[in-house]
Amino acid sequence: MIRSLRLLPFVLLGAVFASQAQMSTEPHEQPQLYALAAAPSEAELHATIAHLVGFGTRHTLSDTRSDKRGIGAARRWVKARFEQIARDCGGCIEVVTPAQTFTGKRVPQPAEVMDVVAIKRGSTDPNRVIVMTGHLDSRVTDIMNATSDAPGANDDASGVAALIEAARLLSKQDNQATLVFAALSGEEQGLYGGKVLADYAVAQGWNVEADLNNDIVGNSRGQNGVRDNTTVRVFSEGTKSNEMPAQANYRRYHGGEVDSPSRNLARMMSQLAEQYLPDFHVRMVYRTDRYSRGGDQVPFLETGFPAVRVSEGHEDYTRQHQDLRVGTTDQDRGIHYGDTIDGIDFRYLARVTALNTIAMAALSRAPAPPTGVDIAGSLATDTTVTWHKVPAAAGYRVHWRDTTAPQWQFLRAVGDVDHAVIKDVVIDDWYFGVSSVSADGYESPVVFPGYVGSFERSPPAVTH
Ligand SMILES: [Zn+2]
Repeated sequence: MIRSLRLLPFVLLGAVFASQAQMSTEPHEQPQLYALAAAPSEAELHATIAHLVGFGTRHTLSDTRSDKRGIGAARRWVKARFEQIARDCGGCIEVVTPAQTFTGKRVPQPAEVMDVVAIKRGSTDPNRVIVMTGHLDSRVTDIMNATSDAPGANDDASGVAALIEAARLLSKQDNQATLVFAALSGEEQGLYGGKVLADYAVAQGWNVEADLNNDIVGNSRGQNGVRDNTTVRVFSEGTKSNEMPAQANYRRYHGGEVDSPSRNLARMMSQLAEQYLPDFHVRMVYRTDRYSRGGDQVPFLETGFPAVRVSEGHEDYTRQHQDLRVGTTDQDRGIHYGDTIDGIDFRYLARVTALNTIAMAALSRAPAPPTGVDIAGSLATDTTVTWHKVPAAAGYRVHWRDTTAPQWQFLRAVGDVDHAVIKDVVIDDWYFGVSSVSADGYESPVVFPGYVGSFERSPPAVTH
């Protein structure tokens, strides 16, 4: 008895040391993320897409007054759905509908483009914002046809269903940073809804850390017949859209061609999938979007916010932007064209939804990414990494990788400090980055040094 009492102070001291070491160094496995990964409901996703398809067309220039048909009815339904989720969580979500009026090549008369946006404020860091987007509008073969049936089940009711389901699941959990779930309009007419939301974010003074743009995420069968329900693509730009010539010149000598914040966001999503989603993988694509095509992440990038496009692994073009019809030529006889709900693989869509949901939870619970990251060590055998501390970080990790490696390979947990010397790792031969880790073990994305890698908003270049 006496003996064990004497030992008690040492036992306690040991526990303190152990918990400090844990706090400042190692991200933990997060049971909440495993639970979230399994939570998306195929029934919920199905119900959303069935409702949206039921509005006939959601073309941006379609009827806005009918309660049964057109973009207006669809917007009001999404708004009501968000408000239902808000009621179920005791008012934890507010719903706003930012709008602007545009004319353009595909908008001959001035048309109002309105987004439907659910906001769940962060508990401790509300100005840091994680966004998930998808687009509500749909189209057929003729981009100006605003009346024919355009079910848009996959493009992009699937993305809207995913973000509504993510909002429902995350409404029941704590988030330190603010979460935003946005059903955009005007995508097919020229990415207008993404611009409306990016402008709204700037006006609100939001520090958007990530936009996860989900566009075409529900089909697991490629047009060539390949079936793959284990892969989702995450597209990310290599260098920032608004990089200035002097910044580009600096980068040519110091590196950073493949380390924009958007790219390191994609790397984080890939790692989350490997850890929390069995047999489900992110295929990182080193491009802003698919060849010659764009999406609503682009206005975010142009505004200076990190953003990625999430899209299914294999597309079926007979289902995209098509009049509903059956092929009659020798080449396509019997092919059913059109973006109908029978083309959705709900099990697959649930897993894509899970990836987004755990990414939003992980990003919002981690500290902000380190700022002011820099490296030094030219003509030396050691590399020195420096950064500015960020609120809520209990520690930092320095990462490095071979310059040709797609993922970070090595790391050192360096504690709650603002610099580290990595001995015998030569600056010339590796790419370096720093992440922040919270006391409960959530890690931020890795930040590559300098302007090229910073998650802080870089305002658009002003050209005169
Ligand atoms: Zn789309």
